[in-house]
Amino acid sequence: MIIPKAGKLTEAQMIEVEHIVSEFKCSILEIEGHNQCVYAILGDETHSLMFKRIAGLSYVRKVDKIESPYKLMDRRSALSDHLIKIGNRVIGKDSPFIIGGPCTIDPSCPSLFLETAHALKEAGVDALRGGVWKPRTNPYSYQGHDKAIDIILQARDETHLPIDIEVMDSTNLKIALDVKVDILQVGTRNALNFSLLKEIGSCSAGTESAVLLKRGRHMASPDEFIAAAEYIVAKGNPNVLLCPRGTTPALDGYRNHPDESITPLIKGKTWAPVVVDPSHSVGHSDFVFSCSMASIAYGADGLCIESHIDPAKGIGDDPKQAITPDKMKRLISSCREIWNCRYLP
Ligand code: PEP
Ligand code: MN
Repeated sequence: MIIPKAGKLTEAQMIEVEHIVSEFKCSILEIEGHNQCVYAILGDETHSLMFKRIAGLSYVRKVDKIESPYKLMDRRSALSDHLIKIGNRVIGKDSPFIIGGPCTIDPSCPSLFLETAHALKEAGVDALRGGVWKPRTNPYSYQGHDKAIDIILQARDETHLPIDIEVMDSTNLKIALDVKVDILQVGTRNALNFSLLKEIGSCSAGTESAVLLKRGRHMASPDEFIAAAEYIVAKGNPNVLLCPRGTTPALDGYRNHPDESITPLIKGKTWAPVVVDPSHSVGHSDFVFSCSMASIAYGADGLCIESHIDPAKGIGDDPKQAITPDKMKRLISSCREIWNCRYLP
């Protein structure tokens, strides 16, 4: 990774660097960090002569060679001070970043989503979630509809809250980017869909859209999770949030095996913020509160929680998992207390 002395390489400097790396059959990718741009060397970058030539350029501060399967996501990377901004919040600063909203938006009843959005704004959430396109296990269950996008856009207009939508394929992605969705969610089923991760990274590079990458249900180690996120960052979008959401096999009584305790292990390895999803992890509204508190205690930067004004009228996971906005309000206040008294390494 090349770190320039100034915030960014000029066009002429970029041409010179590209010329050098192309001699070694490599290419350069600009990644826009919070304070400065860094430049990933793509290809076989083991050539020490290439490194020496780049390091010798007057405008290059340093060329980092990080021995890691995820050299951009690694804690030691030049992106380690990268801050992710969503709406008016910087993730990881001051208090937990809370994403809330229904599992699924019901296009036949927009008022349910809109009223939920307003109630959640009142409860103190920082962003709204709502499923437009849904990855359903049963092919005959409701699969989502393009029409739902207008409803969540209306909610964004009315509440001024950023929005989080899951994208499952290139068509969803294009629509979501056209309307400048603030958080592109990658669900657990696509967590290892490397072609989709690469496409999301390249199409969202240079935009304001962040990516919430859920942990794959079968994703064993923190390394595998972080390496999946590296696909997105290595295509140009460093605004990635890592989302543990429970793994399989389930712990008897929960929907999945709750995995909020993986948070400090992830944080020891990468600079990327962790936003835990307690709703899919435990799978029952009664347990969401305690799982949220535990997540914050473990060091999570935020939470993604399913919430609905009338869960029984919801679609998908809402009847079982969603908490009401008044419970969300209490949850946010308790999580802030935990946040303020936690001791992190
Ligand atoms: C969701 O957020 O509604 C969802 C389907 O999540 P996951 O991919 O974690 O199952
Ligand atoms: Mn859901």
